[in-house]
Amino acid sequence: MPKNMPAVVQFEMKKGAVELRDMAVPEIGDQEVLLRVRGVGVCGSDVHQYHNTQSWSVRVPVILGHEFCGEIAAVGKAVKGFHEGDRVASETAAEIDLDCPLTRQGMYNLDPSRRGFGYDLNGAMAEYVKVPSRLLHRIPKNVPFEVAAMTEPCCVAYQATVVNARIRPGDTAIVIGPGPIGLLCATMARLSGAGRVILAGITRDQGRMDIGLKAGATHAVDTQKEDMKAVLAGFGDGLGADVIIDSTGASVSLKNALDWVRPAGHISKVGWGPQPMDFSMDPLVKKAVTLQGSFSHTWAVWERVLSMLGTGQLDPRPYLSKLSKIDGWKDCFDGMHGGGYIKAVLTP
Ligand SMILES: [Zn+2]
Repeated sequence: MPKNMPAVVQFEMKKGAVELRDMAVPEIGDQEVLLRVRGVGVCGSDVHQYHNTQSWSVRVPVILGHEFCGEIAAVGKAVKGFHEGDRVASETAAEIDLDCPLTRQGMYNLDPSRRGFGYDLNGAMAEYVKVPSRLLHRIPKNVPFEVAAMTEPCCVAYQATVVNARIRPGDTAIVIGPGPIGLLCATMARLSGAGRVILAGITRDQGRMDIGLKAGATHAVDTQKEDMKAVLAGFGDGLGADVIIDSTGASVSLKNALDWVRPAGHISKVGWGPQPMDFSMDPLVKKAVTLQGSFSHTWAVWERVLSMLGTGQLDPRPYLSKLSKIDGWKDCFDGMHGGGYIKAVLTP
């Protein structure tokens, strides 16, 4: 086992303060495993931290990366059921309070004391990361590491689209914001039985929406050129979308969602941004719409998503734009920031 390893580290709270640094290989506790990282996805949140535009607190210096998988290289004394060499993917709630009432109800994703990889605790953009064994899930044999590294964003999409929305066969669903999460939500909406899945984006999103059309979405609407209300008027009874998933970071897109949703419809909001809203929520009342937030994911969602990857029911590969060694991290971050890459995965 080497003593040191190269890692992508955010070292200060200022713009651009991320670099490849030599860091110590972590030492594991009794309940932890040491994971040899084989794939780690670049998340929009990693890019925000690179630009110091995040709206959460970061404990620097910290190794970035929370979307990861790998092989177990060492196992803590008290770990049961996992062994050296096992191929696993890891959840993201690195630290939780096991006695928190939410944790006891299985909703540890909402535990207020939850601390995550890549901002509070060292993440996986390195050769090794230490992981509590309660976070681990086995990767099906036929799923390669670069696909398993996309399990986490698939789980975010599953939570927002399946757990926190209610889609029935034949529904019309709109996904606002064709970033990686939005595109995966469109795929999940189609898998949930939606008859029409409409991606809503702006002109510069066209390339990504075209890829979404090959991976689940049935329609793409450029809202700078086309009127969504007119599009919806041509579908079914014309009263609007049954379900809307808002995956943008702009608060104002909720205004559109309220405009496009049908009476008694459902909005699931998974994108977040700090801007205050300056519009009336009256349509929510008048249309008796359900508005539901969605954050992170839980154990059962991970098992289902990995099962879907194993059977081939879910294939996120159309959204994997770039596979790169760790020293290519900057190109991956810049490519995701500029919108040229949907999802980049590093293979440390
Ligand atoms: Zn993420």
